[in-house]
Amino acid sequence: MPNQRDLGLILRRFPYGESSLVLHVLTREHGRVHVIAKGAYRPTSRYYAALDLFDTLELEWSARPGAELVQLVLAGIEIRRARISHDLGAFTAGVTALDLAALGSHEGHANAELFATLSTALDRLAAQVPPAAALVEFELAFLHNLGLAPALTACASCGGAAPPLEQEPDEPARAAFSASSGGRLCSGCAIVARAAGRRVGTLPASVLELGDAILARRVDAATLAEVELERVRDFVARFLEVHLESRPSSYQQFLAAHNRNARTRTP
Ligand SMILES: [Zn+2]
Repeated sequence: MPNQRDLGLILRRFPYGESSLVLHVLTREHGRVHVIAKGAYRPTSRYYAALDLFDTLELEWSARPGAELVQLVLAGIEIRRARISHDLGAFTAGVTALDLAALGSHEGHANAELFATLSTALDRLAAQVPPAAALVEFELAFLHNLGLAPALTACASCGGAAPPLEQEPDEPARAAFSASSGGRLCSGCAIVARAAGRRVGTLPASVLELGDAILARRVDAATLAEVELERVRDFVARFLEVHLESRPSSYQQFLAAHNRNARTRTP
């Protein structure tokens, strides 16, 4: 079998033996590939110092049929993004994006769109865009790529209009929202979903509409105030958790905080 070549982004690195590394890599054309980089820590290796997180790498590997790991033959750096590792906020956001891409990718299933989405997020972080902005753009694009984008303006269930619910005077407009039903709901579908035992809450309509504008790229997330970004990220992270059926370790801290979109009662 001839050697394979592709561009790749390292998702996870595990030390192996004395001087080797096992890498889970998202490639552009070959989906997720698990490679062993033998002697990666030896200065004489052909990929020494070329296996950092966040860089786009040009990789060559040899695949033996039936082998669980393919063997890395060559690695070069195509795009260096060293800056991400020098800023804690950017680093944490970058690792979160890699964690999600690991959860959303499959061995041997090419997903060029996911590769492009992740590359864009890492470019944004390297360009010192606020990390929360780069991350929420990625999270929404990631959900869209998986076919799981939340309904943010229309009803997830019937596709009809989903106007805000009746509200107290002076209270910001809120809409029914159910992560397990796919997002925003009209009042009729909210009743049906509740009766079916689904969890239905409410979210500020303005936060949902902001999420929609970010997803459709009508708004550059980097121009938003931190508190707005946090509100969008809060519901997106909770939505991701329901749909990925796991809480990626990088979300523990973010989601341990109180719900940033909870109703605030006016005294
Ligand atoms: Zn509906």
